[in-house]
Amino acid sequence: MATLSQPTLFQEKENLDLNGNLSFPSSFHVSNCSPYPNFARALSVNSNSRKLHLVLDLDHTLLHTTQLCNLTPEEDYLKIGTHPHRDVFVLETVITKLRPFVWRFLDEASKMFELYIYTKGNRYYAGLMAALLDPRKEYFTSVSRVISCEDHGILGRYKSLDAVVGCNYSNVLILDDTEEAWTKESRDNLIVVEKYCFFRHKMGLVKCKSYAELKTDECGYLAALLEVLKASWKNLRLLEKRKRISHSIFC
Ligand SMILES: [Mg+2]
Repeated sequence: MATLSQPTLFQEKENLDLNGNLSFPSSFHVSNCSPYPNFARALSVNSNSRKLHLVLDLDHTLLHTTQLCNLTPEEDYLKIGTHPHRDVFVLETVITKLRPFVWRFLDEASKMFELYIYTKGNRYYAGLMAALLDPRKEYFTSVSRVISCEDHGILGRYKSLDAVVGCNYSNVLILDDTEEAWTKESRDNLIVVEKYCFFRHKMGLVKCKSYAELKTDECGYLAALLEVLKASWKNLRLLEKRKRISHSIFC
């Protein structure tokens, strides 16, 4: 998990450090094995397409949700008042914290990718989260863009790209914090992201406090991931350009 050497109380611009520079956590990675292998593969095999598909997990990838009753006494302040970033939401019996930078991440990513949500949560939960992430319905523009356990049901235990309408294995990337959630066939398209944990519950922290308890937050992870997506996209465009030049010379 990304850590801050100097915890700051809900920084106004969460991807900027105290000097106003874009800061990336030192532990940033997109794969547990090697740097970006699957991403590069998915891009290279799809070099003729203008827009790729990006499938996004919800919990611990774009946000963190827990039951209100799971809040520790030091997190109880989140039930009332307004959060400085206005990205904490109490919904019936649960509380959701969006990952820092997520709105901008979705906005920028939507210029390169067709966006999908894929959660093993139910349709009601998926709809609530989609509304928080995309209140203007700009990114998840149809019901087929939000895949929940009801849609996934017949496919069994694992998430599968077979449930994503309009995608095939050569034009889609997945962002998820849990590799084991996906079928083996789908894992070639997967970027494993660092788990986002804001609340204490089930964090497995014995001595450490949660971001919520510390009144701080993760800094820079989604901004760094966005830069990886952008850089790879530029490489893809360069590949396309070279292909066009090569075609014009030799054909
Ligand atoms: Mg997850």
